Amino acid sequence: MRVSRLMLVTLRDDPAEAEIPSHKLLLRAGYIRRVASGIYAYLPLLFRVLQKISAIVREELNATGALETLLPQLQPADLWERSGRWSGYTAGEGIMFHLRDRQGRELGLGPTHEEVVTALAADLLRSYRQLPVNLYQIQTKFRDEIRPRFGLMRGREFIMKDGYSFHANEASLQDSYGEMDRAYRRIFSRCGLRTVAVEADSGAIGGSASQEFMVTAEAGEDLILSSGDGLYAANQERAVSLAAAALPLAAQPCRELDTPGQTSIEDLCAAHGFDPSQIVKVLLLVARCADGSLLPVLVSLRGDQLLNAVKLANGVSARLAPEQGTLLSIEPLTADLVRSERLPLDLSAIPFGSLGPDLSDGTLVATAAPTPTQVLAGSGNAALATAAQLRLVPKLLRLTDPTAAELETFVCGGNNPDKHRVGATWAGLGLAPELVDLRAAQSGDRCLHDPEQTLTAARGIEVGHIFQLGRKYSEALGARFTNESGAEEALWMGCYGIGVSRLAQAAVEQNHDSNGICWPVAIAPFEVIVVIANLQEPAQHLLGEELYTSLLAAGLDALLDDRDERAGVKFKDADLLGIPWRVVVGRGAKEGQVELVQRQGSVKRELAAAELIAELSALIKAGRSGLLA
Ligand code: ATP
Ligand code: MG
Repeated sequence: MRVSRLMLVTLRDDPAEAEIPSHKLLLRAGYIRRVASGIYAYLPLLFRVLQKISAIVREELNATGALETLLPQLQPADLWERSGRWSGYTAGEGIMFHLRDRQGRELGLGPTHEEVVTALAADLLRSYRQLPVNLYQIQTKFRDEIRPRFGLMRGREFIMKDGYSFHANEASLQDSYGEMDRAYRRIFSRCGLRTVAVEADSGAIGGSASQEFMVTAEAGEDLILSSGDGLYAANQERAVSLAAAALPLAAQPCRELDTPGQTSIEDLCAAHGFDPSQIVKVLLLVARCADGSLLPVLVSLRGDQLLNAVKLANGVSARLAPEQGTLLSIEPLTADLVRSERLPLDLSAIPFGSLGPDLSDGTLVATAAPTPTQVLAGSGNAALATAAQLRLVPKLLRLTDPTAAELETFVCGGNNPDKHRVGATWAGLGLAPELVDLRAAQSGDRCLHDPEQTLTAARGIEVGHIFQLGRKYSEALGARFTNESGAEEALWMGCYGIGVSRLAQAAVEQNHDSNGICWPVAIAPFEVIVVIANLQEPAQHLLGEELYTSLLAAGLDALLDDRDERAGVKFKDADLLGIPWRVVVGRGAKEGQVELVQRQGSVKRELAAAELIAELSALIKAGRSGLLA
């Protein structure tokens, strides 16, 4: 390919829309253009990168016996109704784009394909003799992300490799899961990426194994906690650790304490000399369920601990009644929520800042009557308010983190404004706490596997995720097979994702310098660029063209910068584009000499044009195998 024919437009300055280096560089070097928020055009240069990544993915997956397929992106709502995910994915903070067709039937644009593939399995896989099966596809996915950002990192339309496996039993699922783990490590390594595998959140399904592959980078949206001995690494969403020991509070009769205006743990500690670990803090939240009900949730945590929102969502999900459907969101009970849900609640009657774990269920129901403004505003609003009241579950779901439950004596809110209690006990409050791991593990915490080890934090970009799904979808969608003893049972399933377009950008995040991108050879759009320093010099022009033709003939991905531009401009663009090898045909051309520059580290040397092809072929062929080389 010739640069003059590449539609190449490079930008000197950082575009205002980009915050992180990889996003800036992909825009500046002409790899992508933004079309709308979270929606990007993959320009020809990036398309070549995506093709190379896809080729590596295909090679490694095909080698395991996985089958490539292509499933529809338009998916009927009823499949998602059957798995119970339609409302969760379309209402509230749901991320599925959805629409109606001309017959008025609802459809969604695929954010993922468990439903479609499980329905196919139900149709096609009938006997244990057909198992195991592993299907994958490389395709555009659609997700109406709440916060699309960082270019291809979190797009609303992006390319994913998603795969699904079907098994006759759990052991076979575990085999495939292990095989995918190994294939993923080879894929990322071949792409030239340094990744770490971390334990990941398995969502409300619980118990099933799940692992993410993270590219470590400052710009990562995920937090990874890992131990120095390399034996434990987990996404913070999932991580567990030993909390620091609490400072015991002397056993004492429970008494009330005046705490005027002291609404935070810091206030209480500053005013009374408590240690945060002696306090039970209580948070009041509201869970929005798919059936429209609003479930108040009262969380008790030790004062020095932070809430892990993912663990909370899993804990609440697991406790919803079947008729409530899936959990849509959990948010603090605030004036905004009361307004948007038209809840007939008088927040001033709730003692925020002094909540105790024994807050009565009645506190929320107490202000059931429509407020005067709602009545004045007309009977319609009053009716709505009553409907909202009916949606509010009258009983608090009380969840307690074990670190709080373990406290024998503690300080907690008095359920009265400006009052706390000292010397409280769980029995004294009349509570038998329901234990759920809710605390966020943090950097510095001791590890469970070895308390001598502590956790350190690093940021990561999730490029892949493998997951043992179990039988959740096969049971919901009736994907059953006949086992060896002739009985019918639900298929065991695994699912495996790679963010192909995100991976391309993550590679840039991990491989760049102040002059531009430094692509790993294996996924570079071109492996070598021949730059003719001065196109007006016949010797240079001739040799450049000759070398370009020979490089192509040798099977290398070569690009020729044949533009009639100043040499400096062409060198700058070559650096920005990040082509791993550059051959400069300049003044030495008359003597048959060229300069060979390695992009990574800008290592330069002169050599005879006659030796170039053999030399570069060897270097590039070694580079094609990525980090494995
Ligand atoms: P995240 O936690 O980043 O939102 P996820 O857990 O929802 O991702 P999966 O459903 O596991 O993602 O999707 C498989 C892979 O697809 C992810 O590992 C990631 O690399 C990629 N991916 C997910 N969402 C996006 C997105 N909005 N833009 C680009 N890639 C994405
Ligand atoms: Mg994931």
